[in-house]
Amino acid sequence: MAARRNGKRKKRNTAAIILVSLLFILVTAVIVLLGYLVSNGRTIRDFMEGSAFMPSRSEEAAPADPAQSGGTENGDPESHAGAEIESDPEAGAEDPEEDVPEEERYYFEEGQLHRGDLILVNGEYPYSFTDNQASDLVYIRGVKTVDYALAKDDLMASRHAVSFLDVMIRDCTSAIGEDSTGVTEAFRTYEYQDELYAEIEEEYGEEYAKDYVASPGYSEHHTGLAFDLGVYYGSYADSFTGSANAEWINENAQYYGFIRRYREDKTDITGISGETWHYRYVGVPHSIVMELNDLCLEEYIDRMREYTQQNPLKVSFSSAHYEVFYTAKDWIRIPEGTFTVSGNNVDGYIVTVRTDLT
Ligand SMILES: [Zn+2]
Repeated sequence: MAARRNGKRKKRNTAAIILVSLLFILVTAVIVLLGYLVSNGRTIRDFMEGSAFMPSRSEEAAPADPAQSGGTENGDPESHAGAEIESDPEAGAEDPEEDVPEEERYYFEEGQLHRGDLILVNGEYPYSFTDNQASDLVYIRGVKTVDYALAKDDLMASRHAVSFLDVMIRDCTSAIGEDSTGVTEAFRTYEYQDELYAEIEEEYGEEYAKDYVASPGYSEHHTGLAFDLGVYYGSYADSFTGSANAEWINENAQYYGFIRRYREDKTDITGISGETWHYRYVGVPHSIVMELNDLCLEEYIDRMREYTQQNPLKVSFSSAHYEVFYTAKDWIRIPEGTFTVSGNNVDGYIVTVRTDLT
């Protein structure tokens, strides 16, 4: 379209066009947002709570500079109300050890560093096989409560992760009106991974094997917390992408504690090419924080080191409030509320404290 060039009139027209365009964008954004909320069956309130830890850079949310916020005294709820992922090492100072008497301490279990929902297993940090490995490992077929296909009868996984997988697949089935989600892979032993790697290498070559298959010991499947999902129509379709169930799960997995572990844009960090089918259980609220802040597990583990018991990451989701923090010590001050501890499999522990909102 040729531009008109006649002075004031043109300026007025341009201004009107800009105004109308802005209005259009705003209305579209609102419609998309409402559509998103409705399609996910979430209320506005849920979303608002979730937005508390979105990486908004507004002046309201968790200023990185303590001076701007009018002080970040410990215990001042205003100072990290935004609870976004930000660096604030000053506020992260820990209690001097001598200030916490023995009776107020909780000591982690032996081997905890290598166990828990948040352990990082990748090309750098292998899974630590111990007698206690994936202690709640079970046959999926024996415990699942929802009817979905398993590519192999003897697939095993962590029992609590299966229980969340069940709910996710059930909700997916009812949302898309189609019973087509199945599990193709879950827990793998070291020996199995060894054979698999050799097979893939032989069939597709070394480069392909390196990009898609972890070396034995370095596969997330050893944790019992990883699942490969597939589209099942009497037999499995090749990939888990483009189908209604793949799309639904990709959008909603976070609410069930799952993350799509290997995204295309994180390949240089994860060391694994994009995989649309591989989901990892990490638990809520971690899955949601990762999703909203666009962090892969490596990045999340790294960012968590900035949060201490005195200056935790604060997250509200659904009817619960969470405080999440990292420590390199083997104990914490016993928190108020129920808590879980996961090693990061690298150098410390991530503690998740939950209090239910009334
Ligand atoms: Zn996988």
